[in-house]
Amino acid sequence: MEEEEEQEEIKCLGCGSTSTRTKSWHGRAPNHYCHKRGCIRAGVEAGHITPRSNQQGSRSAGDGREFTEEMELLELEMIAATRFFKAGALRGEVKNGNKVPADARVLYLLIYGKFLRDLDDEKGCWGHFWMTAEQLRAQEKISDDARKEARDAYRDAEDALWVEGE
Ligand SMILES: [Zn+2]
Repeated sequence: MEEEEEQEEIKCLGCGSTSTRTKSWHGRAPNHYCHKRGCIRAGVEAGHITPRSNQQGSRSAGDGREFTEEMELLELEMIAATRFFKAGALRGEVKNGNKVPADARVLYLLIYGKFLRDLDDEKGCWGHFWMTAEQLRAQEKISDDARKEARDAYRDAEDALWVEGE
């Protein structure tokens, strides 16, 4: 990606990085922060980023096990489930159905692993949390190989349990 010349370069206010692993930067222009937890923490402390947990509706839309920006995955043990839409997208029957809107179609993975649960958590603990594929990709402690391994293991486990009537 050539983004040097003319174009005004976006830089993380935390570490000065000109790239972020997430689809978009955290915080609003001109106060941008990259995906790194330390940078997000700096943004929250500077009042440039509203922590997810304080945003109305975001928590209640899920089952309370949604991964948030203040969290970090330290160890990936397994993918326990997947779903293809945002939590809450199926809520409420409208007339004849409750179709999931196209913009709610996002891949979520229920990850079992060791998580730092907020910005003050230094030790972390084991548990299950729903992460989007993008959030998982942005985790610096998790290698591409570990992600791929977990994905393959998930598929194998599903195949093994998916027993058609004989
Ligand atoms: Zn940064």
